[in-house]
Amino acid sequence: MKEYVIGIESTAHTFGVGVASLDGSEIVDFSHQYVPEKGGIHPREASEHHSKFASKILSQAIEYICQRNGELVAIGFSQGPGLGPCLRVGATVARAIASYLDLPLFGIHHGVAHIEIGKKLTGARDPLVVLVSGGHTMIVALEAGYYRVFGETLDISIGNLIDMFMREAGFPSPAGPLCEKLAQKSSDFVELPYIVKGTDLSFSGILTQAVKLLKRNVPLPTLCRSLQEVAFSMLTEVTERALAHTKKKEVLIVGGVAANRRLREMLSIICEEHSAKFYWSEKWNGDNGAMIAWTTVLAYKYGEPLKIEESYVKPLWRIDEVFIPWS
Ligand code: AMP
Ligand code: MG
Repeated sequence: MKEYVIGIESTAHTFGVGVASLDGSEIVDFSHQYVPEKGGIHPREASEHHSKFASKILSQAIEYICQRNGELVAIGFSQGPGLGPCLRVGATVARAIASYLDLPLFGIHHGVAHIEIGKKLTGARDPLVVLVSGGHTMIVALEAGYYRVFGETLDISIGNLIDMFMREAGFPSPAGPLCEKLAQKSSDFVELPYIVKGTDLSFSGILTQAVKLLKRNVPLPTLCRSLQEVAFSMLTEVTERALAHTKKKEVLIVGGVAANRRLREMLSIICEEHSAKFYWSEKWNGDNGAMIAWTTVLAYKYGEPLKIEESYVKPLWRIDEVFIPWS
């Protein structure tokens, strides 16, 4: 009988349940995304969305395993970082199944899961990772059992920068794809604050200035292009420095913003200059259950399960606190 795990994602906008076989040959995702009517993610509304969809999505995942006559051997869930009310929905569902079926429970770090699914899908082995999403903006690499941070945002994430700016322009979040499309329509450029401090980044000055220029009627495509050029150049600069320092031979981009062609183009150029191979996957860059399921397989094989009474959520869990036993 083939053995499977289930992984539950609920850190922010997505409620997802992934299924992965222990041999890694099958990974599937069942997800549903909360889209705010207006504004950004409202934590309570998102958590209500997750509670509403949990049972339906979980049934789809269980059905998948049953149809294959498989055996469920472990449960994993995104333990953090993320929005408290949202995280608690996934944790509650995970604890309930684990205790009802008497299965081991694994607390998965959401950022680690983005990286591990990226490695699995691309075949990258020991990459310098550019993790760019709604929740994260950091450059990390595995060193001695931990994902060490070689640079990160000091304020908002790059996904937030894009989404908050586009909301000011009247577009609902997430609006990264629209920002990218509009940017391609312009060849003009306006100055925006380029802020790199050591190896860290700050994006809030770009947001303030771009919103100011928007109100002064600078065309939106020009602003989208300028915002992308400046923010992505900052990220590329820090990635290049980390690459020179770590001498890694691979660079992997993961997270929702990895969908952006211009960012990938800039990163590929520095990879070429440093003889590193550039990796990205079209699939599962945004939040999903599959990445939690695959990381649960790794945790099941190499890590320790959580006691139910110690399975509280960690909204501010940092990636560099997580020991990676499979490294
Ligand atoms: P995640 O938190 O990993 O689900 O990523 C969501 C973030 O990715 C949101 O802020 C989106 O606006 C952003 N995003 C998605 N597609 C693109 C794109 N093509 N360009 C820039 N940002 C994007
Ligand atoms: Mg994410």
